[in-house]
Amino acid sequence: MEDYIVSARKYRPVTFDSVVGQKALTTTLKNAISSGKLANTYLFCGPRGVGKTTCARIFAKTINCTNRGADGEACGECESCKSFNEELRSYNVFELDAASNNSVDDIRNLTEQVRIPPMNGKYKVYIIDEVHMLSQAAFNAFLKTLEEPPKYAIFILATTEKHKIIPTILSRCQIYDFGRISNKDIIEHLQSVAQKEGVTAEKEALAVIAEKSDGGMRDALSIFDQVVSFTGGQVTYQKTIENLNVIDYDYYFRFTDMFLEKRIPESMVLLNDILSKGFDGSHLISGLMLHLRNLLVSRDACTLPLLEVSDEMRERYKAQAAKCSPRFLYRALKICNDCDLNYRISKNKRLLVELTLIQAAQADEDDDSSGRKPKRLHPIFKTIAATTKAAPATAAPKATAKPVTAQTVQQPAPQPVRKNTVPTLNGSIFTSIYGGRTAGRPDQLHGRQTVQVIDQEQHPAKPLTLDALQNAWNEFAATLPRQDTPLKNRMINCHPTVKSDTEFTAMAGNAMMADEIRQAQERILSFIRERFSNPAITMEIEIDQSRNVEHLLTREEQYDKMKKENPALIELESVFGLELR
Ligand SMILES: [Zn+2]
Repeated sequence: MEDYIVSARKYRPVTFDSVVGQKALTTTLKNAISSGKLANTYLFCGPRGVGKTTCARIFAKTINCTNRGADGEACGECESCKSFNEELRSYNVFELDAASNNSVDDIRNLTEQVRIPPMNGKYKVYIIDEVHMLSQAAFNAFLKTLEEPPKYAIFILATTEKHKIIPTILSRCQIYDFGRISNKDIIEHLQSVAQKEGVTAEKEALAVIAEKSDGGMRDALSIFDQVVSFTGGQVTYQKTIENLNVIDYDYYFRFTDMFLEKRIPESMVLLNDILSKGFDGSHLISGLMLHLRNLLVSRDACTLPLLEVSDEMRERYKAQAAKCSPRFLYRALKICNDCDLNYRISKNKRLLVELTLIQAAQADEDDDSSGRKPKRLHPIFKTIAATTKAAPATAAPKATAKPVTAQTVQQPAPQPVRKNTVPTLNGSIFTSIYGGRTAGRPDQLHGRQTVQVIDQEQHPAKPLTLDALQNAWNEFAATLPRQDTPLKNRMINCHPTVKSDTEFTAMAGNAMMADEIRQAQERILSFIRERFSNPAITMEIEIDQSRNVEHLLTREEQYDKMKKENPALIELESVFGLELR
């Protein structure tokens, strides 16, 4: 470990073939040199640390090599190569960092040198790094040289911000776009460096470094150096995350399990744990997004290789992915992504993250698949218990079987059996139990009487007043999740009125509004019944003729109507995460 040389310098590639992760590009450059088809000006674009300057130097060295190999690489031994290797820059190669030398004078110095032909070798190569930093005047001064360059001069301009290069320059350049280096390539390269340095490194640790370096090899190598010196040459996963202040993968596995099992309180505690360690909420969310992405990738054997982790970790991802539906993963990803987008502008960041965790724990709900949902079990159970108490055998609630007119949208007519199957919004079968319908069947009633009494004692029915009803109604609307925004708007625009102690009517502005509320009737009613501890409450939906606003649709209503007429809109909306503003 003594005399440790910065790896990014020590292992800087000196041949095209040793450049990591830019194969297509280096092959093209090599072929151009071999065939002698050289341009005067090249523009190398791409993020920092992906090999732009390195390739420019290799290019400069290779075109001046007098003894190029059959493979198109510089020999490394001829006079030119030697001078290049020794000083990193020979007399024929000039480098200008435009970030710090961006004045007209700097460019004039350079263009004056351009006039002098090379003393030896064929080409003089000018590498201008961060060329977008040149001042406007410097750009203009440079443009003249670019327009009529001497044959022996080759310019290689490098930039991280291609869009800042003026078109007159762009049009004179042969452009090479350097991409981010894949994590896989970075991990492999780090492994080879570790091996050469006699450093042991766990693959998971290198994966963390690769992730942190965001596709830049230079950053990856300097992070690697940092971790090596911190760990004394034993690069373990635990020490790496400690040094780099990275949240342990394990947390993401635990969060995902909590989401799946709807253990919301525990997820709050876990969040607190992470925040108290000094991590930022946004790190957690972006880490969660990556984790969910990894789970998505793990679901399919053909995408599994995209997961750049050890075999052991891969099995772990695979096992958790098997528990997640694609729907859950898409939705949870979307929820986290929304949080990520809103994080910066949020005034209460912790609350935002907490809400995100709560929503993620509900991402699997309202599943389209048929069958009874576990979530429903609880309210149903309460209804059974409460139902019988409020419905003495002699006094079944007033029959709600009114004639259905065009204006009256009614609750589905109850059947004189215990269970009614009611088709709901998503076409699945929702099994519900209505109060009082068992009145004529004392045999059934008897068995449940005891439950009823207990419930009655704990929750006496509250009177159904207009104020209390309006409050409960608004409360339900307020707690609706984002995807239920249309329903929320309907409910806000729809005023419930009390008809009797156990009856209320929702007055809808038009048929479409009524229709939407009817689709959510089960949910609303079950909430209201619970809120008033009175399962005998029934709900009707009527169209308010006095507010005949069918032709005056709000923007949301117009949009909803469009969606009904053209379902492709719904898909468009969900694919791009659009919302009406
Ligand atoms: Zn050579």
